[in-house]
Amino acid sequence: MKEYFKRDDIKVYLYPDALFHNVKALRNRCKPNVKFCAVVKANAYGHGIREVVNILKTTDVDFFGVASIYEAFYIAESVNKQQILVLEPLHTGQSKETLFRCAQLELHCTLASIETAKYIESILKNTLVKLRVHIKIDTGMGRCGVSDSEAEELVDFVCNCRTMQLAGIYTHFATADEKDLSFAKEQINCFQRVLQNLRTYFTKDVIIHAANSAATIKLPESHFDMVRCGISIYGYSTIEKPLPVELKPALKLAAPIVHITRIGKGRSVSYGRTFTANRTTKIAVLPVGYSDGFWRFFSNKIKLIVNDKPAPVIGRVTMNQIIIDITDIPDAQLGQPVTVIDNRFDSPCGVYSLAETSGTICYEILTNIPPWANIILTRKE
Ligand SMILES: *Cc1c(COP(=O)(O)O)cnc(C)c1O
Repeated sequence: MKEYFKRDDIKVYLYPDALFHNVKALRNRCKPNVKFCAVVKANAYGHGIREVVNILKTTDVDFFGVASIYEAFYIAESVNKQQILVLEPLHTGQSKETLFRCAQLELHCTLASIETAKYIESILKNTLVKLRVHIKIDTGMGRCGVSDSEAEELVDFVCNCRTMQLAGIYTHFATADEKDLSFAKEQINCFQRVLQNLRTYFTKDVIIHAANSAATIKLPESHFDMVRCGISIYGYSTIEKPLPVELKPALKLAAPIVHITRIGKGRSVSYGRTFTANRTTKIAVLPVGYSDGFWRFFSNKIKLIVNDKPAPVIGRVTMNQIIIDITDIPDAQLGQPVTVIDNRFDSPCGVYSLAETSGTICYEILTNIPPWANIILTRKE
């Protein structure tokens, strides 16, 4: 991840206690010997990857899961005893230097095709390097991985080559968050058949894993040797509510009022004049817009929180600013923080509410939080 400036007025309040609580609650659903991989890809789902790693590295988390090797490089110095699992597959566009660095940092890399395996062998064969790989099997996700029928060829290749070491075998679910778990169970069956065929290749050091958050919560038979939890450690889930586990939201985002003014009845607000005041209206401007992840789609659609009171977003969301109606909040002041993403489930700008309004999922709301937000570790929720 590129270094970027921070702006200290857009604040992400990050609650370490919520992260600790969620990891513990998820771990409690697993047998004690099951390893825990905390997924911190996409800037820790918008929460700040280095901050989250620094908080969770003091716990009994075993692995940090990242999307790319570049994220892994970014946090490699920050981890304690934890290992780093890279979920995106290695590919033939990666240079020798890059592969070397992966090996040097002892990253656990995903291998998802025989072509890539041959490429790695050819690139590293004259070195003493041994890359740790987790072979990904596509049991029904339809994205990355070797099919069940190709799995043996790839495992055999890795176990008989000099440049790689088999460190894990895994798969990923397509529907574990849905009410109907029949397809997820077919995926488990397929995975188990593959594992059965490959039994002769395993040592006990090979980590078998499959479960994302939803499967960790709902499918104990999918836990194997390790679970990989992302969204749930941040306090959210796409599983039907009520959840069988208590999760606590780990962040709140706030931005200050930078301008207050009064407009007369009949005056309009922002581009396209999509809002016209039907009374004398006190308006406040906030320094967040669609370039800060606050979608233009939210124009005239949602309410933010000022002093515990709802303030509607009026007019179009612009690139760097939005306008809210504070007529009914007389104590609202210049500089005052306004809650833009709330950590309360019942808030009009809570993550579930924002997701529902815009036809998306909590993941996308959170990952839109810009990396220039100022992350502040906070005790009180
Ligand atoms: C993102 C991801 C996860 C975590 O998924 P959540 O639903 O956020 O728990 C686990 N495994 C893989 C392969 C992923 O890409």
